[in-house]
Amino acid sequence: MDADVIVVGAGIAGLRCATRLLQLGRDVIVLEQDDAVGGRVRTDVVDGFRCDRGFQVLNPAYPAMKRWVDLDALDLAPFCAGVLVRRSEGLVVVADPRREPRLLGATLRSGYVRPLELAALGRWAARVLADPAAVKAQPDRALADSFDAAGVTGRVRAEVLDPFLAGVLVDSHGRTSANFTKLLVRSFVLGRPGVPRLGMGALPEQLAAPLGGRVRLGARVERVSPAGGGVELGVGGTRLTARAAVVATEPVAAASLSGIRQPEMRGLVTWWFEAPEAPHPLALIAVDGRRGRPSGAGRSPGPVWNAALLTAATPSYAPPGRHLVAATTLLDRPDGEAGEGQVRSHVGEIYGVDPSGWRVVTRHRIDAALPALAPGAPLRDAVAVRDGLFVCGDHRDTPSLQGALVSGHRAAEAVHTHLG
Ligand SMILES: Cc1cc2nc3c(=O)[nH]c(=O)nc-3n(C[C@H](O)[C@H](O)[C@H](O)COP(=O)(O)OP(=O)(O)OC[C@H]3O[C@@H](n4cnc5c(N)ncnc54)[C@H](O)[C@@H]3O)c2cc1C
Repeated sequence: MDADVIVVGAGIAGLRCATRLLQLGRDVIVLEQDDAVGGRVRTDVVDGFRCDRGFQVLNPAYPAMKRWVDLDALDLAPFCAGVLVRRSEGLVVVADPRREPRLLGATLRSGYVRPLELAALGRWAARVLADPAAVKAQPDRALADSFDAAGVTGRVRAEVLDPFLAGVLVDSHGRTSANFTKLLVRSFVLGRPGVPRLGMGALPEQLAAPLGGRVRLGARVERVSPAGGGVELGVGGTRLTARAAVVATEPVAAASLSGIRQPEMRGLVTWWFEAPEAPHPLALIAVDGRRGRPSGAGRSPGPVWNAALLTAATPSYAPPGRHLVAATTLLDRPDGEAGEGQVRSHVGEIYGVDPSGWRVVTRHRIDAALPALAPGAPLRDAVAVRDGLFVCGDHRDTPSLQGALVSGHRAAEAVHTHLG
């Protein structure tokens, strides 16, 4: 045997799984096809700009982050607890007054302090805020239907919540599980998402550190099959054997290596622009509230679902004195594939600036960014596939960093029990 356990894939789930196995005293090898760890959480440094592979943030309120990640060492640069909203008549800020008292005046002037709708939103979220476990037992429905049923039907929803959550869920149709969305909203209320100063890639690097040379890069696993009471893996013409294997790849590869059902995946494109001037002073995620105009009130405003000035959160995302803007389109829309011109002009419109001097630093197209979580789908799925074969990844828990970490931990515990 080459090891007790071979973990296939060094994304967040695989790294957590391997680390936990090591803590439990198991001999473990991690095989990763890419040239670095991280999977969907990596940072490309292009001309001195830190461009995460698709705009993403880390929420320190995720329970798994608090438990298994040294958040201090990541030196998180937080975003403001609010949203910047483009409206026809101007740009407005709506922020959580508890955490952003300096933005209270702007929030009061935003037109979104609408008591009836906010009360309905409070009712929609109250249960999950009080008891996150309870929401998992609640009947589930699609996000859009759950807002309708709760009476969250006004401008706050149409102009702020719908566009903001579409970007977070990579779902512009509100088809995602409302129960999962409530858990996600809870973590936004409790935590202040941010980015590590060295880029999101610092997270998997930290998780990989205790594993040292046990992570083998450039090792693509072609098959996993049962052999002599354990498993055999085919890797670039060679064979490795172990008492158990954990397939910690993204869901599409996991389906082909382990035979589990392949979930529907949602995709996005993030464009990274260098801007000569900061388009806004605050580190706020920006959305286009004009999407929420009553139907028939005009064309879709443009392809960008969210934009963010990374250098307002931390200048470390760019060379000194330069500015980095991320703009994301969604591939569940026909204009998700929009070209540079359309994206640049829309993001300029969102901020209300002339973007003609902006330069594309890079672009990331991620067809399989997140597994879709349909209403009623389990928020926690089995990790054992058959004797000696296990799976983990965000498709086994919730489609998030929290889900990936928890699934990896669960798989490690299940393997440990299996090995006795
Ligand atoms: C653009 C984007 C934005 C996101 N934003 C957020 C956010 O703000 N907050 C949040 O909580 N979550 C976010 N997510 C989701 C989160 O990043 C994922 O849920 C999580 O990283 C999934 O981790 P994983 O380990 O399950 O899978 P992956 O990261 O996909 O890791 C799988 C690994 O397996 C490797 N692999 C695949 N096939 C093989 C093979 N045959 N042999 C060897 N290795 C193989 C891959 O190379 C990869 O390294 C975002 C995701 C994307 C893409």
